[in-house]
Amino acid sequence: MSETAAFALPAFHVMAKPTGAQCNLDCAYCFFLKKESLYPGSSFRMSDEMTERYLRQTIEAHRVPEVTIAWQGGEPTLMGLDFFRRAVMAEKKFARPGQRIRNTLQTNGVLLDAEWCRFLHDNDFLVGLSLDGPRQLHDVYRRDKGGRGTFDKVLRAALLMQQHQVEFNILCTVNAVNSCHPLDVYRFFRDDLGTRYLQFIPIVERDNPTGNVEGTRLTDRSVPPEQYGCFLIAVFDEWVRHDVGTTFVQFFDGVLMSYFRGRSSLCILQPTCGEGVALEHNGDVYSCDHYVEPLHLLGNIARTPIGQLVSSAEQRTFGQAKSATLPRYCRQCEFLFTCHGECPKNRVLTTPDGEPGLNWLCTGLKAFFTHADHSMRLMAELLRSGRPADLVMDILAREQDEEIRRQLFLRAGRNDPCPCGSGLKFKRCHGNRAA
Ligand code: SF4
Ligand code: SF4
Repeated sequence: MSETAAFALPAFHVMAKPTGAQCNLDCAYCFFLKKESLYPGSSFRMSDEMTERYLRQTIEAHRVPEVTIAWQGGEPTLMGLDFFRRAVMAEKKFARPGQRIRNTLQTNGVLLDAEWCRFLHDNDFLVGLSLDGPRQLHDVYRRDKGGRGTFDKVLRAALLMQQHQVEFNILCTVNAVNSCHPLDVYRFFRDDLGTRYLQFIPIVERDNPTGNVEGTRLTDRSVPPEQYGCFLIAVFDEWVRHDVGTTFVQFFDGVLMSYFRGRSSLCILQPTCGEGVALEHNGDVYSCDHYVEPLHLLGNIARTPIGQLVSSAEQRTFGQAKSATLPRYCRQCEFLFTCHGECPKNRVLTTPDGEPGLNWLCTGLKAFFTHADHSMRLMAELLRSGRPADLVMDILAREQDEEIRRQLFLRAGRNDPCPCGSGLKFKRCHGNRAA
């Protein structure tokens, strides 16, 4: 048996980019647009032959009942609806009896119309819609090629999807600007848009003038670490008091799983990487969506099946590097069990004792983990005892009442009415030390 076969993963995740880096918008922080320079002169369209090859190989390599096919970009809707109709037909052709194929589509929403929405609904697509908050925050960076804000078009897509009952998540970047307005962002999604599923994606953007290799300097669109911590804490406090079980914030759920099960399903919170690769329009496979650069090219599916590339020794080395390169500062951190140094792409700092490899977001992450620890422990305990995590909201409300009561007693003067409500002076009631 070959080494690859011996280590074949039963399931893996592929982010397929049928249009490569091409997009119909020009968002200021998009790391992928610059990747066009990896394929000079390319048409940036995945051929039907390549699409079928990808689907067949991926479905065949999975040894689990459900396969997720993830379409991403660039902007995948530029392929046109017929491309996706053909893809869904091919999936049905390749699926084994009893095997379920689930499609996901990450989009800026600009091209979505009623016909798209009917297709997405009828074929059970889960859509990730990129939206950075209310208009004044979204339009700062998410602009079209003419420099115009795109809020109206994206909002229209969200409303259309709601109308057609398309299941969708909001993908919201957390950047230098909207991170200063956590509750405006969160309440806009929850109250104005009625969104139940939210993903917050911190922008940690390194300069990259050539598009091939990331530089070391961070752009000023990147979220400052302390601000990222404040953002997470403010949203968490709102969520954990009012919305557990009704609004789902991917990062909070991911952290909770580390407390509850000892392992998160989010790659950034796992000890190793390597289970999710990126597939370019021409069949090239890279180690991760965040490492589409020549150094991390694993091969091409026209020559090597995707299952082999994902299970290759090279990919395992890439995956294990996440823990192998952790600085001592992280290895000794009390939150290592949930953080694991977050995404290696963001490890651009040196530790206080001068070791390289510390995550840009560390200060903010640590502040958040410290702040959320008590509530996370409560929720994990509830889940372990078979009760729903949303009971945490009652527990925290009781704790808050008790704390307010404690403070009232601490601050009561001898001649004030007793905070217990007896009608007596404090000194004659609970303030009477002899009582
Ligand atoms: S490099 Fe980052 S995004 Fe890629 S698998 Fe690792 S943690 Fe996830
Ligand atoms: S919180 Fe900071 S020190 Fe702790 S594991 Fe994460 S990145 Fe490392």
